[in-house]
Amino acid sequence: MSLRERLIAGIAEGGPISIAKYMARCLHDPADGYYATRPRLGAEGDFITAPHVSQMFGELIGLWAAEVWARLGSPTKVHLVEMGPGDATMLTDVLRAGRAVPGFLAAADIWLVEISAPLRASQARTLGDRPVQWVRDLDDIPADAPMIILANEFLDCLPALQFVRTDRGWAERRVGLNADGELAFGLAPDLQGAPPGLPDAPAGSVFEVSPELLSLGWRLGALIAKTGGCALFVDYGRAIVECADTLQALSGHTKVGPLERPGEADLTVQVDFPGFLAAAHEAGALTALTTQGGFLIKLGIGARAADLSRSNPDRAEVVDRQLQRLVGADGMGELFKVACVHGDGLEPPAFEGAVDGS
Ligand code: SAH
Repeated sequence: MSLRERLIAGIAEGGPISIAKYMARCLHDPADGYYATRPRLGAEGDFITAPHVSQMFGELIGLWAAEVWARLGSPTKVHLVEMGPGDATMLTDVLRAGRAVPGFLAAADIWLVEISAPLRASQARTLGDRPVQWVRDLDDIPADAPMIILANEFLDCLPALQFVRTDRGWAERRVGLNADGELAFGLAPDLQGAPPGLPDAPAGSVFEVSPELLSLGWRLGALIAKTGGCALFVDYGRAIVECADTLQALSGHTKVGPLERPGEADLTVQVDFPGFLAAAHEAGALTALTTQGGFLIKLGIGARAADLSRSNPDRAEVVDRQLQRLVGADGMGELFKVACVHGDGLEPPAFEGAVDGS
């Protein structure tokens, strides 16, 4: 039975399911989930991420990580962690750039937080014989050294609940069946289940809450407060609390209906950065948020692009297009944000002087 058929049978028997449950099944169902069976990243696949746009992205993040290590006092051991490393393109660029800072890579134990078996295999192929360790969760890494944690387009995979404002209050949006027995969105009949503190909004507004994102924010904040160090999360998301229906399915670089092809398309929501960072702050860490464009420009992406163009003039136009795509307001520069969670006493590079955002 296909995932669609199994979802339909399950809903016919047990009733409608939350958007979060639907997302989790589509992404991680062991037999048919997108990441469990057929993740396709890159130009030939379903979606392109910043590391695939240009090597400059991962290289600057690598230098950022090495500088964090230096500002931590060059400890003899750090855990260098990437969450959701995809095909390890970014990590390869991070490690190549990290070589520029003597001692950094020798001090770094590398951990990959990944639950997708096909992507673990792809990471192993890309990284060759470099010693790395895979875990399923951040909590599986020993908290015995400072952490430098990186993630690009990881948080947007964490399942979210959706609530719709009706004239009687907030009602949960769910996936049920229509009169033809096909998957369809609907509203929970009673108003129970909406978390407290949802904003006031006009009827029809949609508000998203991701319990998994908030729980990760909390666990991450507590971990960083305990071990020291710094985490960097780059993702498509919002900087303020606002209503929007951002559930999106991508297949072959084209948006498809989120209910159209369960398990065959990537399914994401925009990241609720205010919620994520407030949870990390509450748990004892410091936080800051900026745009991807602002972050990369502060780290010197302009000079890096000029270097690349000088050493390979034939590619100057391509490099310029890549630069614009990463930092331009009409590309990823404004829509993508960079969230930083760090310990007391550390001034993370590119966030110097930033006021704690939460
Ligand atoms: N960072 C890569 C890949 C982004 S796709 C890039 O920018 O190209 C999302 C990644 O997160 C994939 O590696 C996916 O398998 C992983 N992932 C998604 N949900 C996860 C979860 N709950 N736990 C661990 N990894 C997860």
